[in-house]
Amino acid sequence: MTAALGYATVAPDAVLDAGSYVPGTVLDLSEPMVPGRVVCDQIVAARTPWSGTVRAGQVLTIVDVGANESGDCLIYNAADTDERYSVPDTIAMNGNVYVRTGTVLRSNLGNPLMTVVGNEVDRQDTIGGACSKESNTLRYGHHTYAEHGCRENFLYEASKYGMGVRDLVSNLNWFMNVPVEADGTLGIVDGISAPGKRVALRAEMDVLVFVSACPQMNNPCNDFNPTPLRMVITEPEEAR
Ligand SMILES: [Zn+2]
Repeated sequence: MTAALGYATVAPDAVLDAGSYVPGTVLDLSEPMVPGRVVCDQIVAARTPWSGTVRAGQVLTIVDVGANESGDCLIYNAADTDERYSVPDTIAMNGNVYVRTGTVLRSNLGNPLMTVVGNEVDRQDTIGGACSKESNTLRYGHHTYAEHGCRENFLYEASKYGMGVRDLVSNLNWFMNVPVEADGTLGIVDGISAPGKRVALRAEMDVLVFVSACPQMNNPCNDFNPTPLRMVITEPEEAR
């Protein structure tokens, strides 16, 4: 299917005020990493999802507005969403488990979906996965069942495009700190980002992007303080 292009106008102050943050939380909207004509500029309220189409050559800047907010992310070929982001293809062809500047994000067909053209955090994660009601219940107890997770956020966005459970695959986690220790141990620990830190992704084909501002409160992936993200799509001069 073909993803629709269209962005609602949102009053940033209203969205930023929609969260209940830890006292003293600094919110820094920052600016797009790659200058150009702004195609989309939206604030994703804490704990909520976002989706958008990024045309080939355009750059999506994701801003970690309040620091250490995991932006769980899925990417699809906008013209055929059966082609989607692939963790093993990306890791194998990148030769590294971390995502950094220069990493090409690959599809299940091995094609480049997006390239990381800017990154202000040492390393970005693509092996920690996404939270969900089910995994929260298993990991933290049945009392967490009423809490929605990133999987539910993804499903909400997927429903807008006629997509569903079978379209959800393993994902990226912008601004989430998942170190791999020398013995292979995986951690989800306190973040290494800061207010206003950014990552910038250039679309290598027309792509549909889902992002969940992670609502998780049972582990340190968001510093126990879910905060907003800013999504800015720019069209660089040379792409026009
Ligand atoms: Zn999550």
